[in-house]
Amino acid sequence: MKSPLHQDSIASLTPSICHLLGVKPPENSAEPALNMVISTLEKKNLPLQKCLIVAQDAIGAHLWKSHESELNKLLPLVPLRVPLQAVFPPVTPVCFASIFTGAQPDVHGIHSYTRPVLECDTLFDALVRADKKVAIVSVKNSSIDIIFRNRDLAYFSEDDDQAVTKRTLDVIQGDEYDVIVAYQANYDDNLHRTEPFSPICIAALVQHIQDFRKMAEAANLRWKDKGHVVAFAPDHGAHINPSTGKGDHGLDIREDMDVFHCYGIFTGEQE
Ligand SMILES: [Zn+2]
Repeated sequence: MKSPLHQDSIASLTPSICHLLGVKPPENSAEPALNMVISTLEKKNLPLQKCLIVAQDAIGAHLWKSHESELNKLLPLVPLRVPLQAVFPPVTPVCFASIFTGAQPDVHGIHSYTRPVLECDTLFDALVRADKKVAIVSVKNSSIDIIFRNRDLAYFSEDDDQAVTKRTLDVIQGDEYDVIVAYQANYDDNLHRTEPFSPICIAALVQHIQDFRKMAEAANLRWKDKGHVVAFAPDHGAHINPSTGKGDHGLDIREDMDVFHCYGIFTGEQE
């Protein structure tokens, strides 16, 4: 199902990563791989071996409008910036279920802010079938920490964003895993308490950008001899709810639905 704007969906992450890693997509993956991402690679450079996906909650296109110069600091690391639509309703478990299955909510079954362990086939199941080792590093009790459980993955549940960054750097350095997902929540936590452009939210955004850069640079260094992909993959945006004056998301409006995913592809040093 395409949005009226005919933009690709955030669910395109799963088929795109599967294409790059040479893995058969999960059974419900229905989106095409992103042409802007896969067309940059020649066949001889595929498959890539390693993957880092950084998922920071609610870093939507609304922030690229208001704080573009800050967010542009991501682009040297992930220059392929693709405009995408979140899935509806744009709330965290619905969106990450789509991002990591390639399927729309009707198919994966999370339609609202509920957080069951997904029983359908996911990117993580597809990776395990292909003998990839996967680590999910997330804030404890976040949606990502919960809905992808019961699989043969390494789950690192951390107390806060800072601990997620530290653990992710350790996991990259240890080099036991082929695919690493890191999830952080501080911008989203603060937008619900204040509003999306409050000083505390912008401080959280700046911290997210710094953390992203640290993790991506560490991956590029550790995997410099290996073909790899780094992705910046938020779930949805946010708006100010006029009745409360606070930040919110979950509506079919541009502020909530428009996001950018950004990819960086590295083919490794050639022989
Ligand atoms: Zn939220």
